[in-house]
Amino acid sequence: MDKQRVIIIGAGAAGLSVAKQLQPLDRYEVIHLEAQHYVGGRVKSQPFSGLTLDSGARFLHHKKLGLYQQAKQRKWLSKLGKVAIILNGQYLPAWRFALFHILPSLQKSKRLIRAFYRNSDSQKTIEMLIVEQGMNEASTNYFRQLLGSSLGCDVGQVGAIPLRDSFKAAGVRVEQDLINQPLKQPLAKLLQGCFSAQFDQVRLGHIVTEVDYSGADIHLRCANGELFIADKVVITTPLATLKQQCIRFTPAIAQQHQDAIDRLGMGQGGVFFLHFRRRFWKKGLCQLINADDRYHFWVPDREQNVMVVFYVADEGDQVDEPQRLQQLLQTLNTVFDCDASSLLDEHYHENWSGNPAIGGLYSYDGIGSEGARSVLQQPIEQRLFFAGEATIEGHFASVDGAIISGQRAADQLIGMMPGYSSR
Ligand SMILES: Cc1cc2nc3c(=O)[nH]c(=O)nc-3n(C[C@H](O)[C@H](O)[C@H](O)COP(=O)(O)OP(=O)(O)OC[C@H]3O[C@@H](n4cnc5c(N)ncnc54)[C@H](O)[C@@H]3O)c2cc1C
Repeated sequence: MDKQRVIIIGAGAAGLSVAKQLQPLDRYEVIHLEAQHYVGGRVKSQPFSGLTLDSGARFLHHKKLGLYQQAKQRKWLSKLGKVAIILNGQYLPAWRFALFHILPSLQKSKRLIRAFYRNSDSQKTIEMLIVEQGMNEASTNYFRQLLGSSLGCDVGQVGAIPLRDSFKAAGVRVEQDLINQPLKQPLAKLLQGCFSAQFDQVRLGHIVTEVDYSGADIHLRCANGELFIADKVVITTPLATLKQQCIRFTPAIAQQHQDAIDRLGMGQGGVFFLHFRRRFWKKGLCQLINADDRYHFWVPDREQNVMVVFYVADEGDQVDEPQRLQQLLQTLNTVFDCDASSLLDEHYHENWSGNPAIGGLYSYDGIGSEGARSVLQQPIEQRLFFAGEATIEGHFASVDGAIISGQRAADQLIGMMPGYSSR
């Protein structure tokens, strides 16, 4: 029997996961194309000031999923360390913030999770749910920024019902299942360990610009002029690239898929690494959650004078790199009463929004996006398959979710073979 030619577009966690399922099967000839010059997509590590740091995903979010088990086996699970809060420009240890701000609003803050599950108003956003609880201002701001940072966008953009439905569909119980597990090693190294055989097979620097599936063969064209022919294609590119129609499909992809892509959102932002000549924060500090704005700080190594800053930007934000750097240094100046700018030795900026092959942080459930992720899971003509974090419910915006989405797409593709059952 002739081998089926499968092309996987994108070599992030989802694409690698598809490749892992298909490459060992003799009946497929798999070609794996990646636009950038590295493998991993939004899982990326970067040497900086003697350390190797993740500039994309860094935490594990679910104990029951594969990466947590892999990290556990390798003894790479780490402790979170000291957490502090920035409130009105002040530094507050987490216990002090909890005692003086969360505790007085404890009952109201507990109601937030109940309201999330009970809400039946399709126009309600997460922001509205937070505000409606009538918590004190500090708690309101804290939840707004903390959830905004987890969801990668302004919580005013996230629909409460689609978000809840998405968790429900995947059996995720927000209050019990979701974790923020740090690692002793970069997450990029863990991904490489899980997919080492697939890393070598990726053809880097291949930006797919056209997928023509109007004939019996599917023709793919790359920006470098190369042409590939396939029987089936798995598209794992980020939601933003689909929104921006970076790949031209002929014929255009099904209207219901386009609607689903339009209804979901993609949060904007990036990550800075900062190296200072001396440390001006307390030893042992691990994480600074900012209740004032969308800059969140981590100290990746207590022995080094390095901070990692994750930020969420507004859509269409025109703030350039020097301005952003200035803003976040100003936050540090105020909180630590120091001149962080003059202590800054070097910095690195990973501008995920500015990267044309990524286009943002991760997907979120916009108002009216109910069911959009499940539509995106449907193959088109049994020849175009979709994977990637945006195509999964409950575990969207995570590396584990991307891996599961790849397994699902591969299963769908394998299941199409006559007489073959993927289970
Ligand atoms: C700053 C940041 C922090 C995060 N933190 C966490 C975290 O702590 N924990 C967690 O679990 N998740 C986190 N995430 C989310 C996680 O990184 C993603 O959900 C996951 O990595 C997405 O994998 P993917 O394969 O779906 O997409 P991607 O990793 O984006 O892979 C898609 C690939 O497609 C390629 N591509 C795009 N267009 C083309 C084209 N035309 N032709 C060929 N290739 C193309 C891209 O270059 C990319 O490599 C974070 C993300 C960011 C940005």
